[in-house]
Amino acid sequence: MKSDFQFQLKKYNSFNVESISPIVFHPQSYDDLLDLSNKLDRPFYILGEGFNTLFVDEVAPIIIKPHFIGITIDETESTYIIKVAANENWHELVCYCVKRGINGLENLALIPGSVGAAPVQNIGAYGIELSNYCINVSWFEFSSKKLLELNNQACKFAYRESIFKNELKQKGIITEITLELPKCWQANLSYAGLNDLPQDISAIEVMKQVITLRQSKLPDPNKLPNAGSFFKNPSIVRKQWQSLKASYPDMPSYPQKDGRVKIAAGWLIEHVGLKGYQHNGVGIHDKQALVLVNHHNKCGQQILELAQYVQQKVFSVFDLWLEPEVRFVYSDGEQELETNNSIR
Ligand SMILES: Cc1cc2nc3c(=O)[nH]c(=O)nc-3n(C[C@H](O)[C@H](O)[C@H](O)COP(=O)(O)OP(=O)(O)OC[C@H]3O[C@@H](n4cnc5c(N)ncnc54)[C@H](O)[C@@H]3O)c2cc1C
Repeated sequence: MKSDFQFQLKKYNSFNVESISPIVFHPQSYDDLLDLSNKLDRPFYILGEGFNTLFVDEVAPIIIKPHFIGITIDETESTYIIKVAANENWHELVCYCVKRGINGLENLALIPGSVGAAPVQNIGAYGIELSNYCINVSWFEFSSKKLLELNNQACKFAYRESIFKNELKQKGIITEITLELPKCWQANLSYAGLNDLPQDISAIEVMKQVITLRQSKLPDPNKLPNAGSFFKNPSIVRKQWQSLKASYPDMPSYPQKDGRVKIAAGWLIEHVGLKGYQHNGVGIHDKQALVLVNHHNKCGQQILELAQYVQQKVFSVFDLWLEPEVRFVYSDGEQELETNNSIR
């Protein structure tokens, strides 16, 4: 199996921070995965394209960077069945499908990263989530050395959540996903920014509009390093929402099917006065408060400290604790960002 030693990860994370891994493994076959499962005696991290990853320390753990490539398309009378290997690029997959008249993924255009990472946080945008179309995930389990299949239900998809971020974290590698896209397609224009488009619009036009909207709202990581939305939008019980709404009548909120209410985390950050904030070479984007940016810092520690500062500021004003979307990787592996129990 191809491996790199003392590997600098600066170009492999969208915060563009420096971190050196002692070994990077590049499995690209089942035999490589078998070989790999015998080698994992120290903490490791599975890396896709690094668009949702913050390397906190200057030393990274062992990195596994899978290299599974390939797309196959089958069809039934009413659906397209698309199998995509983990290392294909998500946005290129969306373009590949839409250009062939296979519609459904257009609202998820321009989400950066790999196909293998897409189920991990159930990527979503403009009213669609991966879980709407993902019917199967192929997953290599290190302990049994077997390739297992998880159907949609087994993946436990939820808002920016899945089994892969929880019970199965660090226990195996996603090698391939299967999507099922109905041939009978209807544009999903429910989301703000798409809702004034004509109902008979083509999927290509929807995709173009999504790309235009995203480019106008989010900073390009190649120009200003960032990982997109840093925090999840908190989902709160109705009673808590009512009391917040009484104090902040203009607070945007979105009722959920389960009776809870989702609050825009960007609005909360903006309302504690942090939009455009800068400190120690890192900051909050001046147009989109949910995006933490690295202006010119070499290491991830300052971004971690900024994230904690944002959490504490928001908590002190709104009594809400923001949960990060971004994954935190230390020299001894991935860890959840500590919650400050003394504050909570
Ligand atoms: C500008 C910008 C905009 C964004 N917009 C959105 C958005 O609209 N919606 C959204 O949902 N996200 C968004 N994101 C976040 C990001 O695009 C997604 O999280 C994406 O899935 C990350 O892919 P990646 O390959 O870079 O993942 P990485 O950062 O490399 O990894 C992310 C997680 O997946 C795990 N992982 C990666 N590959 C595998 C594998 N093969 N097997 C098992 N685990 C694996 C990693 O261990 C890690 O836990 C945005 C990010 C940026 C920078």
